Amino acid sequence: MKKIVMKFGGTSVATGENIRRVANIVADSVKKDCRVVVVVSALAGVTNKLVEISEQAKKGDEKKIQAFTKELAEKHLVAVSKAIVNKQLQKETEKIVANTISELKKVLTGICYVGELTPKSRDYVLSFGERLSAPIVCSALRDLKFEAQFFTGKDAGIVTDSNFGEADPLMDYTTHRIWQIILPLFEKGVIPVVTGYIAADQDGVVTTLGRGGSDYTATILAVALAADEVWIWTDVDGIMTTDPKIIPSAKKLSLLSYQEAAEMAIFGAKAMHPRALEPVIKKNIPVRIRSVFHPDNDGTLITKEPEIKSTDVVKAVAMIKDVAMLNVSGGGMVGAPGSYAKVLEVLGKNDINVMMVSTAVSEANMSLVVRRSLLGRALSTLEIAFLGRGLVSEITAEDDVCVIAAMGANMKGTLGVASRIFTAMAQKGINIRMIAQGSSELNISFVVKEKDGEAAVRAIHNEFKLDKI
Ligand code: ASP
Ligand code: MG
Repeated sequence: MKKIVMKFGGTSVATGENIRRVANIVADSVKKDCRVVVVVSALAGVTNKLVEISEQAKKGDEKKIQAFTKELAEKHLVAVSKAIVNKQLQKETEKIVANTISELKKVLTGICYVGELTPKSRDYVLSFGERLSAPIVCSALRDLKFEAQFFTGKDAGIVTDSNFGEADPLMDYTTHRIWQIILPLFEKGVIPVVTGYIAADQDGVVTTLGRGGSDYTATILAVALAADEVWIWTDVDGIMTTDPKIIPSAKKLSLLSYQEAAEMAIFGAKAMHPRALEPVIKKNIPVRIRSVFHPDNDGTLITKEPEIKSTDVVKAVAMIKDVAMLNVSGGGMVGAPGSYAKVLEVLGKNDINVMMVSTAVSEANMSLVVRRSLLGRALSTLEIAFLGRGLVSEITAEDDVCVIAAMGANMKGTLGVASRIFTAMAQKGINIRMIAQGSSELNISFVVKEKDGEAAVRAIHNEFKLDKI
């Protein structure tokens, strides 16, 4: 009997109809003699809305809380009515939704009166998305006459440190608790339905595992239960060679290594966060990414070493938009130990994440890529910190750029990959503004003008014949 942890993302449970589809997918596997643990995200968009309302509550906007909770209740009640047929079950689930919303309202009102939003209270607010979605999925399974039981991550036994907003599991303790709580249900043939993303610290205070953290919940459970596979159900057939919106003939990649999958985290939310892969890498548990809309498609399988060795060097290419490039230069940086560190430290202290760095051996300038929305703040912080102090003489920026990233494990040690990529750019007349290749050689990233981005993706997809992969 196979043990499978199935995680369903926000779009998979976006509506009541989708939730029914999810319940049927789980039911099919259980009928085929699999033991399944279900992990669910919040309904699409709900976590973002919770982020917004918590900020508004902090500003003391009590009226907004009323309107928000009303709308949130309606959204979930509609989902209940579409996902569940049995009237009794509908009623029970409506009650859970109503109670959960009324608790949320109290929390938000509290924040509103205190006028303070701590990382701790923020996590508490953000936990409500999954606390509302998971009971509906659980009832939808019961509606199909399966025994299912709903758990928050906390009740399921996931214990983390107290790093609110980005908590990490205490894996040994968590495993022990999951054995006690979830394993006995398995024996009885009950399907546990667990909220993704949320857990609790050792004092029982609610924590979250970081945005997109439901995948992490799934891999934590898989490791604790020694599952055979983790299935991440989403709205695409798997990880693709590139964005099908740019190249309609983009292909699904059937097999990837953990390393490659981690490298592809930048390819957008469809791939997994590298942190979520860490637990399964250690225990060598395969992960499959697949689509709820095409459950017959077996998706992308991510393992330690794909069984069939591919000879493809570049396997995927992505364009990362909404970025900006900064150039920090100054003769004072040459031969001055710690000068790069100072630049990065100033940005880090101001919560500006640096996505890419490139420097030349001349040491006189440093190019950085950051999210475009953070460019203004990055520029002003750097100016305040450095200008007129000798180290840095000029800071310039370009905000009409994008990053192109080519990825593939076989790039390592293969000669001529970079030359083929850059020749393809030259042939299309595309100027390259900045380049970075880590010595892992799994990825070559470079910056071009945004207007050239799609052409650059097409040229690489063509050069490496990715539509034939
Ligand atoms: N709902 C959470 C988020 O949107 C977690 C998840 O979806 O994985 O970040
Ligand atoms: Mg989500």
